[in-house]
Amino acid sequence: MEARICNTRITLLPGDITEQETDAIVNAANPGLMGGGGVDGAIHMKGGPEILKECKSIRRSLPEGLPTGEAVITTGGRLRARKVIHTVGPVWSGGERGEPELLAKAYRSSLELSLKMGLKTVSFPSISTGAYGYPVEKASRVALRTVAEFLKKNKGIEEIRFVLHNTNDLKTYENALTEIVH
Ligand code: ADP
Repeated sequence: MEARICNTRITLLPGDITEQETDAIVNAANPGLMGGGGVDGAIHMKGGPEILKECKSIRRSLPEGLPTGEAVITTGGRLRARKVIHTVGPVWSGGERGEPELLAKAYRSSLELSLKMGLKTVSFPSISTGAYGYPVEKASRVALRTVAEFLKKNKGIEEIRFVLHNTNDLKTYENALTEIVH
């Protein structure tokens, strides 16, 4: 599915984010930035050791780790994407602990960093909805609303892709996008 929000193409597609040829792909990382399971593991596995090397160097200036909602950037290593933006989404613990705002912040920080680095095309996974347990219906609305708000205020990004790992997530994001553009 495709839509336009303020001249930016929004694409929802099934698949594997590590295959995307956008300028950057976003990693749903954890504060340690040392890799992990899920999409994080897949990105490091396919991108090779250069990504971890840069993550380690970033960690030297962030001894406590990357705070939830913030984002940093490394090389894409051997990936087709030139850059990987690492952000940390919130762990779901019922929804009363600021999870929606923190999830929105993770998307916003990633988009701000993309703009700052002059990146025109960016792919996102469904941040927080795997190991971090955020319900995908709620997360999809936060993700797409945050993107839409960002694009109303900021020009310069040409395409934002959401790469969904299973058909149920794809359907859920499609419903959320339909709600927002109508
Ligand atoms: P988090 O810890 O933020 O929940 P996960 O990596 O556990 O991050 O899951 C986030 C989402 O990424 C989940 O929906 C998961 O199915 C999906 N995912 C896992 N591997 C990939 C991949 N290679 N490409 C795109 N999405 C993926």
